[in-house]
Amino acid sequence: MVAEGVQRIALVTEDLSRYAERSGLPLAVTLHDRSQMDQVPRELREVKGVSVLIYDQVCAAEKRRRRKHGELAQAARRVVINPAVCEGCGDCGVQSNCTSIAPLETRLGRKRVIDQSSCNTDYSCVKGFCPSFVTITGATPKQAKDSLKQEPDWPELAEPEPAICDKPYNILINGIGGTGVITIGALLGMAAHLEGKQVSVLDMTGMSQKNGAVSSHVRISSASQATHAQRIASGEADLVLGCDMLTSASHDALAKMRVGRTHAVINLHQQATGQFTRQPDWQFPADDIQTLLKQAVAENTDYVDATRLATALCGDAMASNLFMLGFAWQKALLPVSAQALLRAIELNGVAVDANCKAFMWGRRTAVDLKRVEAYVSPARPLLFKRRENLDEATNYRSAFLTAYQNAAYAAQYTRLVQQVREAEARLGKGGEA
Ligand code: SF4
Repeated sequence: MVAEGVQRIALVTEDLSRYAERSGLPLAVTLHDRSQMDQVPRELREVKGVSVLIYDQVCAAEKRRRRKHGELAQAARRVVINPAVCEGCGDCGVQSNCTSIAPLETRLGRKRVIDQSSCNTDYSCVKGFCPSFVTITGATPKQAKDSLKQEPDWPELAEPEPAICDKPYNILINGIGGTGVITIGALLGMAAHLEGKQVSVLDMTGMSQKNGAVSSHVRISSASQATHAQRIASGEADLVLGCDMLTSASHDALAKMRVGRTHAVINLHQQATGQFTRQPDWQFPADDIQTLLKQAVAENTDYVDATRLATALCGDAMASNLFMLGFAWQKALLPVSAQALLRAIELNGVAVDANCKAFMWGRRTAVDLKRVEAYVSPARPLLFKRRENLDEATNYRSAFLTAYQNAAYAAQYTRLVQQVREAEARLGKGGEA
């Protein structure tokens, strides 16, 4: 039945076959495939009177959550991008508007990679018919290297005294949607509760969406009276747990920091934003962020490459936030005990072993980063990256083209570069940009 006054109802769906039998649907309802999602609202706005748009699809982020909790079967197909074929045009980002398509910096320029940890297996990215896309059926993302599966013989870790909280200790957690920021706040809340402390947790999810900004205000106090204001006031954060670098330097987050009071622990991972889907050459403003953080907290910052390390050690980037929590705890920046946090992880009941492991690796990293790095990449020598000069770049590409086709093909390329080089030299401007 259609309510009085409703002129038209448009039902947009990911799977039209669900409505193969139209029986039961009023005549006012029109059916559309989701590829028409842009066009349908344009039509509805021309309808005089009330019109209704219904979108029938389980949210992709919700599907991912259900898969994680074992309530939905794992996706049968995985999409990867072959970097040897990718030319970095950025069309996949435009087609899908998906922030799981990340930049991959290579010697041949910027390419694309799919972040399998955050991929919702929605497959919108393959719409562009790009030959770089490879679809694999029955595959699951690689877990941590076998050599990392055995817990090493690690020295006993010191147990620092938790941070003092005889008045409210304020923790601002900043991150992006879909990575478990809210879970970190909830774990801290539960740990404080288990220790009989006063606690309030205020989640600011806003228009929460995959990779959208999310923050959590956690206030913990051992005082007997309740903490009334749940929002952390300006300049009142004791700890900023920056699970995402960009959101940690947002205007709102910076306003909560104060030199002399706030300590920041920041994940160095450079997560591309929605802007990257529209601007293929978008650069992550890492230097600007570090400058802003320095102004906000002076030297009171720990930068940690949490996503890279947690992914290598635990096999999933989703372990990063628990890793950050362990790091902050070992630095004595949290006002609850490790036992209470581990119990909170257990009570949470999701990926308990993996979360405890990530927490432990965060603690170890806080104590001995070099040792953790050596364990992750034992064979990787420490190299200082120098910018390639023109000869090095040309030689690399020439060898690449020889291997790809033959020496004649490579010679064609080197001849062209040489001509440009000579022409540029004649201009006498110097430089080989
Ligand atoms: S569409 Fe994406 S994967 Fe394909 S070439 Fe362009 S950037 Fe690379």
